[in-house]
Amino acid sequence: IVLPAGASADDHFAAGDLAAVIAERTNLTLVVTAGEPQPGDIALKQVKEPLASGPEAYRVVVGEHIEAVAADAAGLFYAACTIGQLTGPGGALPRVTIEDWPAYPLRGLQYDVARGQTVETGWWEKLIRELARCKLNAIMVYGENDYAFRGFPFLGRAGTFTPEKAQHLADFARRYHVQLIPQFEALGHASAVLSSKELEPLREAGGPWVYCTSKQATWDFLDRIFAELVEQFPDSRYLHVGADEFEMAFGKCPDCAAKVARVGLGGLYAEHMNKLNALGRKHGRKMLFWPSHAGPSDDLSYMTIANAASLQRDCIPTEWIYHGPTSYPEIARYQDLGFEDVWVSPAVVCFSVIWPDYPTTYRGIRGFLRAGDARGSRGAMTTTWEWMHGALAANSLLGMVYAAECAWSLGQTTTADFERRFAGWYFGVDDPAGESLHQALAVPWPDGASGALLRNQRLLTELAWAAPATVRRLVIKQPQLHDVAPSLAAVEQAIARVDALQQRAVRNAALLD
Ligand SMILES: [Zn+2]
Repeated sequence: IVLPAGASADDHFAAGDLAAVIAERTNLTLVVTAGEPQPGDIALKQVKEPLASGPEAYRVVVGEHIEAVAADAAGLFYAACTIGQLTGPGGALPRVTIEDWPAYPLRGLQYDVARGQTVETGWWEKLIRELARCKLNAIMVYGENDYAFRGFPFLGRAGTFTPEKAQHLADFARRYHVQLIPQFEALGHASAVLSSKELEPLREAGGPWVYCTSKQATWDFLDRIFAELVEQFPDSRYLHVGADEFEMAFGKCPDCAAKVARVGLGGLYAEHMNKLNALGRKHGRKMLFWPSHAGPSDDLSYMTIANAASLQRDCIPTEWIYHGPTSYPEIARYQDLGFEDVWVSPAVVCFSVIWPDYPTTYRGIRGFLRAGDARGSRGAMTTTWEWMHGALAANSLLGMVYAAECAWSLGQTTTADFERRFAGWYFGVDDPAGESLHQALAVPWPDGASGALLRNQRLLTELAWAAPATVRRLVIKQPQLHDVAPSLAAVEQAIARVDALQQRAVRNAALLD
């Protein structure tokens, strides 16, 4: 791998990462050197003239040698990633010319560390590295009581994000052109934090779910929390303040109720969001938030849309739609209301189930990201949620990489083609139709009656963790459970499919353990 004399530390890093990828995939050992490229070499070079296709773009020409150019460090890193992905098992590459650039400037994945997850830096490093190599450039950390704050030592479960871990991972991610974005629930959905006895004075009347927006203690607390998050995640240009699931307990205490009598629930909501936005600005961050959806009554539903005229709109709603509908009129709605940007947030559909619902995942991510791109959205933030009840983050990796694929290139080819390329890239397995990968990772069980239970992940997951009495009740209600032999045969088939792929994997085989 040849770099020009005086190449930057970033470009040396890109070259070193490419050498590591090729070593894993081919057993070839490449050295990074300076000088003129010879036939067979890979030349990586930053050029001064911006490429016509914009920031992060690159060009790769495979001829007698491989020539990669970009006008910025991220673009050259992505050129190196593509060369690594194109390299076959013997070290051969097809003769191609590639002009490539991203659909979305902000290509993100939300990683849910709440609800019992622990933060292992080794796993996080691997995740950051793999997703960066697929050209993702942001990972948003969703935490509830999942950060250790110096100013609030009673917060933070064991094994959670600490300032040291966050700093280490932010430094690690920076070299891969990835920013880590913190999210902290600062309106509702806050029981994990507000359950702390020390924070009792911040609770809205009725329970530890929602902050009382009228109490100065709430704002003093959030100010200090934001200050620490900004310190822990120094590269983030954004701060996500949550703001979902507040409607049931909002505006109830005497002080809040008095304000509601004057300005209405919508006025109080707008005041709270505007104060959060001002706090984000004070700490030098752009506010992201979940816009309000259906609530318990009309005046507590779609409050972002209903009260947009009273909201500061230099913040960014991350609109969340997970089920993969055929159209997304919501994007234009927020744009027409004057928000400076709207980010699209589909999901890897993995909520509290052992296996993600991949057909919906694929449809939802591709459809939403294409709709956002068509309307000029600048950010794509695919979410994961609730790895619990036996769900593993690793089971969602295929969906995370699909999010990276669609944020870069909008899923231009079939999902079978994506699965073929994932098999080749991630496992080093030649899987011409993508069938082996599909059968091992996406939908491992057979069609028809024998796989019915395994396709019903809600029921399967409930069964796996239920008390005996509940199992008995579920079995009585579900005729498909009266004979377990077909389901067991489907499980055997699923395991055999995973084992068959694992035996062929030349890298990352542990994912299939
Ligand atoms: Zn209150």
